[in-house]
Amino acid sequence: MKTKIIILLSIVAFVLASPFIFNKRVTISDPHTLDADGNFILYEWVEPRTGKGPDWDYNLKPVKVSDRVWCFFGALEMPTKENAGDMSNSCYIKGNDSWIAWDTGPSAIFAKQAYEAMSKIAKLPVKHVIVSHEHDDHWLGNSYYKEVHGAEIIGPESVNVNYHKGDQTRMIKTLYQNAIRGTELVPVDRSFEDTTKFKISGINFEYVRVGYAHSEEDWFLYLPDDKTVLVGDVVMNGRVTSNRDGIVIGQINALKAIKARDWNHLVPGHGFITDKTAADESIRYFTLIKDEVLEGIEEEVIPDDITKVVTLEEFRDKDLYYTLSSGNVYRAYEELEMYEGDEDEDDEDDEDEDEEEEE
Ligand SMILES: [Zn+2]
Repeated sequence: MKTKIIILLSIVAFVLASPFIFNKRVTISDPHTLDADGNFILYEWVEPRTGKGPDWDYNLKPVKVSDRVWCFFGALEMPTKENAGDMSNSCYIKGNDSWIAWDTGPSAIFAKQAYEAMSKIAKLPVKHVIVSHEHDDHWLGNSYYKEVHGAEIIGPESVNVNYHKGDQTRMIKTLYQNAIRGTELVPVDRSFEDTTKFKISGINFEYVRVGYAHSEEDWFLYLPDDKTVLVGDVVMNGRVTSNRDGIVIGQINALKAIKARDWNHLVPGHGFITDKTAADESIRYFTLIKDEVLEGIEEEVIPDDITKVVTLEEFRDKDLYYTLSSGNVYRAYEELEMYEGDEDEDDEDDEDEDEEEEE
């Protein structure tokens, strides 16, 4: 009797489980929920969160980097609820009659608090914002400067191509409502085709296009009179970079263009080192990754094994090594498999320089 019940229960269990065992068909009702590799995108929409409590306090303290530049330095972490996206570097440049903001942080509330902190140094409006690249930890503060100051936003065209009002970026999905509320995706007002020199509020700038490097389109900002360079994410220090959207060869070229300028201070996109050694870690990381991955390809290491062979030991004690480094190596393998060698190694820095004047 007992055996019969067990057999019967087994049959019932088998029938119930059969859709999972014979899972030959997956019905995709909405193809938009697949990413480029055909994986399901989970949590693609989060209910917008609004609340009435006090704004998140970012507790921002500006650090003076050079005569005219102050920066807010973010944590060496991934964006989380706990850091409210305060994990990248955001700067202010003091012009004669206005502030110029460089990379505006992860939210409108961050930007508002940054402005309040800077107003204690000089009560000037922000009339221009300049952006390094499209990653949302670097420019979601733009909406504050647009709405409150009517600032002109200068930045890469890729921001307008890849982000639209109402889209939900990583920050918008991740942060608590009291940190992200009021943040809108606002378009860039002005983009340049290539490296351009201009003057804003008495300050000379060279806005240098490095193209596809850390992201689809990276730019850095050189202040020749201050001998200072603000470089966005083509340089990081103290932590391992994320090359998920980038390419090693583009990174190396960007680092060469930075090296070609005369500077005493460099502000990385992430990291606290701003002296003449600030770019060294990134140069070392990308040189090593290129050489070792190419060597692995030469020795016919298969893609699945490349992260076992190229471990970049000397970066093991850097923040985010375990989270990001093997992904960077794997991605470098995909890229460098097609690599033909350094044919144009010598003309790395031949960008056109358009002169342009502005008040
Ligand atoms: Zn980035």
